[in-house]
Amino acid sequence: MRKKITLIVIIVLVIAILATSIMAVSEARKMNRTTTRNHVIAITNWMTTEFSQTIDLSKIAKRLVSQYVARDIPLRVTLIKTSGDVIFDSEAEDLESHLMRPEVQKVLKSGQPAEEIRYSKTLGYDLYYYAARITDSDLIVRIAYPLSLEDDTVRSVRTHVLLIGLISILLMGGTLAFAIHKITQPIETITESFESLASGIAATRIEEVHQVYPEMRRLSVSYNRMADTLEEQQSSLRQKQSFLDALVEGLSSPIVVVDDKADVIFINERGMQTFRRFIDPVKYPYPLFLLTHDDKISERAIEIMSGQTQERELVRTLTTSEGMRSYHLTLSPLYDHRVAILFHDRTAEEEAARLRSDFVANVTHELRTPLTSIRGMIDTLRSGRVMKEEQTERFLQLMDVESERLERLVSDLLVLSDIEQNAVDLNEDYFDLTELANEVMTQLEPYATEQEISLKLSDSKRLRISASRDHVKQLLLNLIDNGIKYNRPGGTVTVSWSAFDTHVKTFADRRNISRLTFSVEDNGIGIPEADQSRIFERFYRIDRSRSQEPKGTGLGLAIVKHIALLYNGEVSVRSRLGIGTTIYASLIIPVENQV
Ligand code: ADP
Repeated sequence: MRKKITLIVIIVLVIAILATSIMAVSEARKMNRTTTRNHVIAITNWMTTEFSQTIDLSKIAKRLVSQYVARDIPLRVTLIKTSGDVIFDSEAEDLESHLMRPEVQKVLKSGQPAEEIRYSKTLGYDLYYYAARITDSDLIVRIAYPLSLEDDTVRSVRTHVLLIGLISILLMGGTLAFAIHKITQPIETITESFESLASGIAATRIEEVHQVYPEMRRLSVSYNRMADTLEEQQSSLRQKQSFLDALVEGLSSPIVVVDDKADVIFINERGMQTFRRFIDPVKYPYPLFLLTHDDKISERAIEIMSGQTQERELVRTLTTSEGMRSYHLTLSPLYDHRVAILFHDRTAEEEAARLRSDFVANVTHELRTPLTSIRGMIDTLRSGRVMKEEQTERFLQLMDVESERLERLVSDLLVLSDIEQNAVDLNEDYFDLTELANEVMTQLEPYATEQEISLKLSDSKRLRISASRDHVKQLLLNLIDNGIKYNRPGGTVTVSWSAFDTHVKTFADRRNISRLTFSVEDNGIGIPEADQSRIFERFYRIDRSRSQEPKGTGLGLAIVKHIALLYNGEVSVRSRLGIGTTIYASLIIPVENQV
């Protein structure tokens, strides 16, 4: 732009200067010619009037010519008779008749002075001829005045004008080029900066102090301010975009955006994995139906876009890479006829709800059975039927057993709910594990003796552990109790444990965290292989024979499993039918070797 403007300005300047010089030269020439003409006319008039009576005109002419020659002006005077004969010429002698000279002819015809400009081949320049008749005589005076002198003046004027023009061009050109530079430079910077801004590159700023013109300074200030704002906005947009990208991509739920034809135009990574479709919907929109195989969703999306419905929630069961899953869908209309669909997987929640209702049903059932049997016996006792004393005693014993069972059930349920609701306290005091194990065994000893089972504590390492003493006690009680319960007379139950460093040192006081694994081994009746995977479920009991009264509540191992999970541990079983069972339960807790 700068070059173009400079070029235009220079061209305009050159044209202006040239036009001025041409006009000046032509004016100079015109002025010169008028001066020459007036001068020649004056000389001629002087000769024709003042000297009309003078006999020897040629003398006067000679004097006049010599005066001019002295001033370097080759003036030529010719005296011609009306017949055409030349009686005097200041330049040549014996000239031929001048009758046919145009100026002579004009004078003869009109009687008035006449003028003529002719090029002289001999002299090589134009000559101005002026002829007039001398009053009251038959003589014509003709003066020839060289116009070459006039040309010299004109040339000099032209040279001066051109020189002044050239200097003016240089001065004006320079000044204008500077001014143009000062105006166009910020514009160029602004253009470059806009290009940078458009392509997301940091824009250059304009030096406000270097601006000569106040308008450009103001423009620079506003531009710089605008560039600051734009850059801030761009960076905040980029930040928001990256947050959004991270959010959408990090989302554990599938999210898709569909257009007005219900074609997917965006899908996050999770969505592609869930529906096992690795597509590029930005380039190639993909029908939503082919993704979900559910036309209800596509229909609803289109209904929302066309304003037919405000209903944005939908519950659907869909086939995914993880099998059939239940989804709660939220459809949100976006600008420009688009709808974003968020798939919230509710399978786990529904499963939990199902488990909860199963649990309630189980609890009800478990409570009802002993209650029904107690009620039945009470009714029989009340009926007043005459019974033998042993029979009454038997009834009371059974009622005792049933109410004990009820009590155990309620107490196990309370323990379970207590474990489920309590979070682990990581700063529990250390206690002696061997001491606790001995305490539990002493507590169960009478029952074991009754069942003719001997309890053993293997010589495991003496440890001090940091966990809820109550939790560990419950765990051991349930495991040893099972070992006694599902054993045969003469059998044994052996309790042992081992601890391994986990190298996890997350606690502030950098305590030694270990995986502490309990094992409670018996040589009892064993567990059928088919049941082994289910014994840790709540209320799961192995139905050995219908005639046999259930020995437990079915909650013991569930309690053990929940305690292990509470401490990030796990449970497992190794058992052979008729040979024996070992149950393992591990906890990840701070452990200290006994000093
Ligand atoms: P319960 O209170 O009925 O003992 P548990 O949850 O403790 O319930 O055990 C579930 C089932 O697992 C029991 O009904 C029993 O059949 C079986 N079981 C548990 N421990 C043993 C074991 N040590 N030996 C054999 N069977 C066992």
